[in-house]
Amino acid sequence: MDAGASPLRVRRGARGALGAWQRATGNRITFVPALEDQALVRVYWVPAGAGQYGEMKGLRLGGARGAAVFIRPDVAGLGTGIAAAARDDTLMRDAVVYLTCVHELGHAVGLTHTADVRDIMYSWTGYAWTPGASCPNRSTYST
Ligand SMILES: [Zn+2]
Repeated sequence: MDAGASPLRVRRGARGALGAWQRATGNRITFVPALEDQALVRVYWVPAGAGQYGEMKGLRLGGARGAAVFIRPDVAGLGTGIAAAARDDTLMRDAVVYLTCVHELGHAVGLTHTADVRDIMYSWTGYAWTPGASCPNRSTYST
């Protein structure tokens, strides 16, 4: 974790993302704190790696399917453009961590990637973001 991404801030990002999914499902899915070995959804903070924001791996607990979500809050490992933008901008860094949590927890609740860049489940793999660059799908946004 980089010096600017405090554990408290990244935990708030995960709690916010869990709350977002709970609200999005009309509380049909609820998340409550549990001990790690009893939790169906687990969130881990891991070191930066290979340009990935995060990942989800399935797990089994008894007969139930669950998920281990790995979030990389150290934006320094995400490529020079986004790392430079987030290094001095805590709002940008928090947004990256929060949106990564929402995306990976979306996988945890069973969602797959979409082809719609406006969707939180869009995969940004291979997308090189440069500060100041226009969005490649700019025409799809309304301003
Ligand atoms: Zn994904």
